[in-house]
Parts: sequence; C-alpha cells; structure tokens
Amino acid sequence: MGSINVLPDILASQVAAGEVVERPASVIKELVENSIDAGARRITVEFQRGGTRMMRVTDDGSGMDRSDALLCLERHATSKIRQSADLAAITTMGFRGEALPSIASVSRFQLSTRRREDDSGTLVTVTGGKVHDVQECGDAPGTRIEVADLFFNVPARRKFLRGEQTEAANIIQQIEFLAVAHPEIAFTCLRDGREVFRLAATGDLSVRLRDLHGEEFLGKLAPVDSFESHGIGVRGWVAKPGEGRSDRTLQMTFVNGRIIRSPVLSLPLREACDGVLAKGLHPPAVLFFDMDPSAVDCNVHPAKREVRFRDPSTIRTVALQAARSAWGNASPSRQFTPGVGSDPLFPPIISSEWKPADLHSQQELSVHEVESARLGESPASSSHDLSPTGNDGLALSSRFLGQLAGRYLLFEDQESLLLLEVRAARERILYERFLARLTIGEIESQRLLLPEVLTVSAADAAWIEAHADVLHQAGLSAESFGQGSVKVDAVPADAADLPVMEIVVRLVDELRTEGTSSALDQGTREVLASSVSRLAATGGRVPAGEEGARILLRDLLACNLPYATPKGRPTLSQLSPGDLARRFSA
Ligand code: ADP
Ligand code: MG
Repeated sequence: MGSINVLPDILASQVAAGEVVERPASVIKELVENSIDAGARRITVEFQRGGTRMMRVTDDGSGMDRSDALLCLERHATSKIRQSADLAAITTMGFRGEALPSIASVSRFQLSTRRREDDSGTLVTVTGGKVHDVQECGDAPGTRIEVADLFFNVPARRKFLRGEQTEAANIIQQIEFLAVAHPEIAFTCLRDGREVFRLAATGDLSVRLRDLHGEEFLGKLAPVDSFESHGIGVRGWVAKPGEGRSDRTLQMTFVNGRIIRSPVLSLPLREACDGVLAKGLHPPAVLFFDMDPSAVDCNVHPAKREVRFRDPSTIRTVALQAARSAWGNASPSRQFTPGVGSDPLFPPIISSEWKPADLHSQQELSVHEVESARLGESPASSSHDLSPTGNDGLALSSRFLGQLAGRYLLFEDQESLLLLEVRAARERILYERFLARLTIGEIESQRLLLPEVLTVSAADAAWIEAHADVLHQAGLSAESFGQGSVKVDAVPADAADLPVMEIVVRLVDELRTEGTSSALDQGTREVLASSVSRLAATGGRVPAGEEGARILLRDLLACNLPYATPKGRPTLSQLSPGDLARRFSA
C-alpha cells in the first residue's frame, strides 16, 4: 500500500482554491519541488521552446508504487499533510496536492516512476486530464515527469504565454533559485538539447553560488555571520557597501528553505543601503531566514510564492540587522560617488558621450534639455537638428558590428565606433511613447488572467490605496485587500513580462521616493512615465540579430531627446577616430 492520502473536503477547502499553473516556470517549480520532497540527490530539467513544447524533470528520489502513481493525479492527493493542524507546520515544499492534477489537466502528461525496492515501475499517460494508459515500465528508480504542449486544450491560456526567450529565462531563474536553496542536490539544466548548467552537489553554498554566478559575483558579497535574533535564524550574504543592481533578480531571500520575495525582506535591505547606494539600486543578497513554521503562513498564494508573516516588523528588524552585520565584516569594494554612473556593478567602458559627427557638438546635455526630455518635448530652442529624417540618415548609414557583454550594440558610423546601451535606449524610447499616450489619456494596461493577491507591509497597502488613481494611470490596477495585502488585476503593458510582485514593489518604491502626489498633474505623469519605462526596460534582452539592433537604433534616434534617459543616463556613446588614435598613441 502506498503513502498518499486524499485530503478530506474541509481541509481541501482550507487550502485556498486557485490555479498553480501560470506559465512553464511554475510547472518546473512544482515538479522540481516534488523531486526535492522525494529526497532526490540529482535532478535533471530539460525543456524545449521555453517550455511550451516540452518540459521534463527526472529525479532519483523515492519514486511511487503503482497505486500512488495513479492517486497522485487526483485533486488533493498528497502524502505530506493529513489534517488541518499540519497546515500550521509545513516543512515540505508541496502540501496542497493540486499541482500534478492541475498540470496534467492542461497538457499531454507522462509520469513514469519506480521505487527502489520494486522490480518494475509504472508509466501513466494523461491527456488533458484524462488517464488513458497505465503500463509497467523498467525505468531506473526515481520519477520522470514529462509535460508536453502546455495549455494545448486551453487556447486562452496559451495566448497568455510570453515569448520563448522570456519563458526560458523564467524557467532558468526558477531552477537557479531552487539550486541555491539546495546545494546538496546536483542539478542539470538542458534547454533545447543544450546544456545551460550542470551543478555538482556540494556541501558549500558558496561553491554553488560560484558555479552559478561566477567568482566575481561571490567577491561582491559579504558574509552574514549566522546569528539568531527574536527566534529567527539568519545566514547568507549581502552585497558589500556600494554594490547595487537596478533590479532585484540577484536578491534571493529564503524563508525556511522556500524562495520568498517580499517587500518585508527586500525593503530593509534597501534601507540598510541608504547613503551608500544610489537611489533605484538594490543590494544583491542571498539570505536564509529560519523561523518557527507557524510564524509564517505560506498558504496565501496558490503557487506558494507569497507568504504572510505573523510579525512582519520583527522580520524587518532582523533583515536590517543581517545587512548591517554583514557590513561589519566588509570594507567597501569601491568608493561610492553619488550621481556618477548609475550601476556600480557595471561602470561604463567609455565615458565620452556620443556626438553626432555631422551636427553641432552635443557633448553634454544641458539641464534644460534633460528637463525637456522629462517633458517629452523638443528643447524650445533646438540648436541641433534631431529631426527623424536627420537621425534616420544616421541610422541607415551606420553599419551594425555586433553586440558586447549582453548589454551594448556596436555600430560603425563614419569611422567612429558607436555604442548603444540597450537598456538605457529602451528606457528613453518607452518613456517618450508612454508619456505621449498618457498625455492623451490612453492607458496601456495588461489584464492578469487571474488576479494576484500580494502580501505587502501595512504602510505600502495604505500608500497603494491612497494612490490607486495614479497607479491606474500607470496601468497598474491594485486595490487594498485587507490587512497588508493588495489585489492586483492589471499591470502596465510595457512591463507585463515581469513578475507582478516586482512591478508593484518597484513602482511603489520609486513613486514614493519621488514624492508622487495623488493628483494627476503633468509632474505626476512624468514621474509615472519615467518609473514605468525604467521598470519595463529591465527585462529587455539585447536584440539577437542585425534587424533588431537597427530597429532599436532607429527608434532611439526618432526620440525627441535620444541621447540620455529621463534620468540623464547616456544611451549612446561614440569613439571618434580621434578618440581611438589617442587611445593608441604612445
Ligand atoms: P503536493 O506536492 O502538494 O503533495 P503534488 O500534486 O505536487 O502535491 O504531488 C502529489 C503527490 O505525488 C505528492 O504528495 C507525492 O506523494 C507524489 N509525488 C509527486 N511527485 C513526486 C516525485 N517526483 N517523486 C515521488 N513522489 C512524488
Ligand atoms: Mg508538489
């Protein structure tokens, strides 16, 4: 007899209803978490076409007998929880017993599994939720689950998927998080048949971090000497003073081994950096918080991404202590000079600004021009012709050379080397478009298929409530949803690729920092446009081919003020033949 129990109805309804399967990455997360729960030592994840064509997770864990292999496909069948008291003390990754049936109901699904002690295993084939074949099979001990053609029978959901690149990036990030949480497990990831990474099992988390993100990343981190405060254990790393990133993808925070992204954890990290890190930057961190399972409710989000802390203010205090304690162990890795550059992790290679060769010198944008840029207007007295025609000529005459460091596009223009910084360029383009639409009252919003309920601090919830109209203008429709949570129905269309939590946290952070009023005046619109464009430019990748590169350059040069972001960061840089000659002179 197997070990899976079917949850009684009452308990099943205590487990909030909801969908687990949003996108390929959420499928991978559920499958890998199941493998971890099954005691796997080695997990292999393969996927094709961003997971939309195929995903396969293979583990060497406990496996299941024939009856469990069938039972696990029934809703609320779980081996991990039997009565509602267990809900208060969950230590396994999964507990809702709804992942496998949900996934199997929207895909062509195959489960093959074998316990070490059994002579043969079981292969179950399910199509769109219907079990249509059960066979014996002779696979190695462990479990392999293959999910093909996700959402093949739910065209509306399929349409909701992002491009393959985005879905693939989400999958890889998801596996990275799980791999950081479990260095003792070997992970292999194959994308379209090609190896993305192969991580050996290790007892040393810093080895895992180095394998994933490189020696250099490790060098930027200061260790937190494990400590305990208010009954909460903390260990990990926080970036050295002055090290920052403009997004939070390298902020990995775990609560009881589960990856949890919450402003309750990220805001104190940011707060700790006030004065040493420029606005808009966030310290990378890898932090593990261990606390009594009853101090955190992980049953507020169907995909278990959000939690509700019983005592968020204590957790905030502890997170702040953690950052400060790390810095007791570290000397700043470089001097921070406010206003210089905007991303200390990526100092610009070249500082001389792009000067259009055939136009008047435009070495530096004047304050007035930057201000005009913020308004999305041409400078009142334009000394240089930046008309689309003139710029188009430039774009057409330049030759695309290639891309560099996943960040720059290189062009050759009249013997000069032209460098375009992709993110800054996108920011400028999106800013002008967004502001233009906003000015005519057009809101570009992407409705979520399922509203998301996020846990935020009470202060954030109150701010969101007071600024609902302003946020709505930005395309974010969010409403306070009782005690420290907000319900989000729609997000800015330009930023729709990003996780909802990130959109909300960054927009609210940024708008609040700017002192946004609740009135919808021009100043507010500019702040909105600037915030949304910065947010939206985060996720963008460097265009793959020449065509994409040219389009970006053309769109940039079609802007009113193409040479800097609304915040004044350069978008283009030029090395003239003179500059080059100087670099190579004795
Ligand atoms: P949950 O993880 O919430 O219990 P799932 O639907 O994800 O629910 O899985 C249902 C059950 O199937 C699990 O409780 C577990 O007993 C079994 N199971 C799923 N995946 C595996 C696996 N890779 N190895 C062994 N057992 C598994
Ligand atoms: Mg599970």
